[in-house]
Amino acid sequence: MTQSATTDVDAAFTLSLPKVELHAHLTGSITPQCLHEIWQQRKLSDPNLALGDPLELLSKDKTWNATTFFPLFSSYIYALCSTRESIIYSTNSVLQNFKEDGVVYLELRTTPRSSEGVSKEAYIGLVLGCIDNFEGKEAIPTYLILSIDRRSTASQAMEVVDLAIRYKERGVVGVDLCGDPSKGDVSVFKAAFTKAKQHGLKITLHFAEVPASSSELELETLLRFGPDRLGHVIHVPEEMAHEIMRRRIGLELCISCNVQASLTEGGVGEHHFGWWKDRECSIALCTDDLGIFGSPLSNEYLLVAETFGLSRKELLKLSGRAVECIFGGEEEKQRLLALLVRQEK
Ligand SMILES: [Zn+2]
Repeated sequence: MTQSATTDVDAAFTLSLPKVELHAHLTGSITPQCLHEIWQQRKLSDPNLALGDPLELLSKDKTWNATTFFPLFSSYIYALCSTRESIIYSTNSVLQNFKEDGVVYLELRTTPRSSEGVSKEAYIGLVLGCIDNFEGKEAIPTYLILSIDRRSTASQAMEVVDLAIRYKERGVVGVDLCGDPSKGDVSVFKAAFTKAKQHGLKITLHFAEVPASSSELELETLLRFGPDRLGHVIHVPEEMAHEIMRRRIGLELCISCNVQASLTEGGVGEHHFGWWKDRECSIALCTDDLGIFGSPLSNEYLLVAETFGLSRKELLKLSGRAVECIFGGEEEKQRLLALLVRQEK
């Protein structure tokens, strides 16, 4: 058993730690191996399939940045996972991986998209069906957040919100704003997020991910949407950070993603988690795109323990801070807090 000098935490501990995952993109969470299996299947039924082997495209020594990362989805992964079979196969694989990593509560997010014979609404139905039918679902209650892509028009955004409202009863808990942060004018989404809120949906936003999406105007516009949580929060002026705390907005911090994609400068030790961890706010460590960055949630907890010298007790507390900002309701919160208390004994 390896233990660092400054912490009593090891990989076995972070694996068994009850964890909640709040910022995971469904498509980005598909592992290269699973994509490879889908590719093999599709190649069998269509030898002319014009897509390369994902194991080559996503080889471990590839590094990603904001300019290479987003086209990977729009030009490759969405095209590969476009059939009914591949959507079901990949969703089940993602659920299984989170369960095996000791995640005990999951909010998956996805942008409704239509493809060969699958409408946007049918796509949502397929994903929710996988969640409903997942074996061992009692161990990992899973909810869905529908994402609005920043490149969308106001009416496309409204379409996503209308779908979220329609499927609320089946486990859609919120609406997200995501996509290439160098694109789009966020002010056009005001009406969509207002409607989502009016219908009791929660709001989370990708926030200050790159300098181009971090102008004071953009950040203030986004805060006016009344978000319940914010993802990334990288280029945030200190005054605004205090405002975020004052409003008790939960933070989704995706450390490996930020470090590997060079969204933040330096390594894990320089990540803004170091600043936020000592503040009064809810923090959820999150994987963002496990399939790309290869760091499961248990590893994110291990990284912060080793880097910031956090003890087992402190990690249990940190996991509890993520529970505070889940979208799944009070009953889920109580169940999760009880799991953490049990783990402490
Ligand atoms: Zn994200």
